[in-house]
Amino acid sequence: MESVRHLIVGAGISGLATAAFLRDSDYLVIEAASEIGGYCKTVKRDGFTWDYSGHFFHFKHADIEAWLRERMPGQTVRTVEKKTFIAYGGRLVDFPFQKNIHQLPQDEFVECLYDLYFARSSDVPREARSSAGVGKLAGEANFKEMLYARFGRGIAEKFLIPYNEKLYACDLATLDKDAMGRFFPHADLTDIIRNMRVADNASYNATFTYPEGGAIEYVKAIASAVRPGAIAKDERLVAIDLRQRVAKTSRREIRFERLVTSAPFGELVRMTGLAHDASAFTWNKVLVFNLGFDKKAARDRHWIYYPSRDVSFYRIGYYDNIFDADRLSLYVELGFAKDARVDAADVERLRARVLDDLKREGVIDDHRLVAHHSVVMDPAYVHITRASIAEHARLSRILKAHGVYSIGRYGGWTYCSIEDNIVEARALAADFDAA
Ligand SMILES: Cc1cc2nc3c(=O)[nH]c(=O)nc-3n(C[C@H](O)[C@H](O)[C@H](O)COP(=O)(O)OP(=O)(O)OC[C@H]3O[C@@H](n4cnc5c(N)ncnc54)[C@H](O)[C@@H]3O)c2cc1C
Repeated sequence: MESVRHLIVGAGISGLATAAFLRDSDYLVIEAASEIGGYCKTVKRDGFTWDYSGHFFHFKHADIEAWLRERMPGQTVRTVEKKTFIAYGGRLVDFPFQKNIHQLPQDEFVECLYDLYFARSSDVPREARSSAGVGKLAGEANFKEMLYARFGRGIAEKFLIPYNEKLYACDLATLDKDAMGRFFPHADLTDIIRNMRVADNASYNATFTYPEGGAIEYVKAIASAVRPGAIAKDERLVAIDLRQRVAKTSRREIRFERLVTSAPFGELVRMTGLAHDASAFTWNKVLVFNLGFDKKAARDRHWIYYPSRDVSFYRIGYYDNIFDADRLSLYVELGFAKDARVDAADVERLRARVLDDLKREGVIDDHRLVAHHSVVMDPAYVHITRASIAEHARLSRILKAHGVYSIGRYGGWTYCSIEDNIVEARALAADFDAA
């Protein structure tokens, strides 16, 4: 039987970064797909460059960005100041909604401000309790309660709840209150009032970078630091014997000392045969349409959020305004529950619906669709719940005791960016090398 010190499962950002940063060269990466990149793949068609959904980059670690850029010779990387809006009531409101309620019609502005004020006040008058959502008194036991308690009924019900229900495709009361971690744009009453005079819509991603060649360029940069010949594509992990430390793949059996995997956590646990609560792990899937048109549409916007339940998609993004291109190039995202059926016929039907909705929302008029592509990201956003946090922590401890490390967005069953994936992989590789 073959054996390797480090068996790495998945050649997405997490798996490749683990291999790239390991100083010990005794490793093998196996990847189920026929191409590397995981969710950071790029599709090029008829002169359009698209990713699997918009993948934009916000580096907080200058050393990581520099490390990547050194490995991208000849690649232009654009830095773009984000222009982001919410389509609300026939107008565009600056993102984030909660900091820009003063842009709403006056009656809705007053409603949101009133509810916001009393949601936060410990001195909640009786009549405000019913109109201001559950309010501070009810605490923040889950994501939905957190939205009401921090922002009041107006903001919660006009944007935060419908938008996130379309995205997550679940009851938001089932999610942990910190389900979006640092990616949720929090704002308190002072921030919101201050923003009415001087706009400060800065968020975790006020600017972003994007390579001319698409997100795959970052993947290629990481892969360039992986030992040649160390990636086995079209090879799937199917079972793990934890006691013997043997991985069974679609091709062979491999003995390992440590196994690092970025496969979805629920699948990993199933492959080990460990007893677990499978119902703790739920997620949404996202159908992404990449659409190329014959001519330009609006400028000065990068992505737009759609909370309305009458619109099929929850978000669209404009690649052409990132690239300064002269033909409209969009990605359009639709959220579904994990068990929803999205087959080829559904995709056809939904594409027609999306085009109708784009027209109705004024994104296109007589534009002609000249190229398209679609992909279902499944899982896309994992549902972070109290049960998933507890079950993930319990099982991870057992796995680690057998030399199995589950990392990345889906291995960690978390909400994170690709930079987080690189940081995590680099730290793990350093621990292994130091051991
Ligand atoms: C809609 C959406 C938008 C996003 N936008 C951004 C963004 O703008 N910026 C940003 O920084 N991040 C973004 N992300 C997050 C980013 O996509 C992830 O953080 C990153 O791609 C995760 O990389 P990974 O390697 O952990 O997982 P993956 O990309 O899922 O890679 C895992 C790899 O493992 C392989 N695999 C799985 N099971 C097996 C098996 N049994 N055997 C062998 N191989 C297996 C898969 O084929 C895959 O290649 C977005 C995510 C989504 C869903």
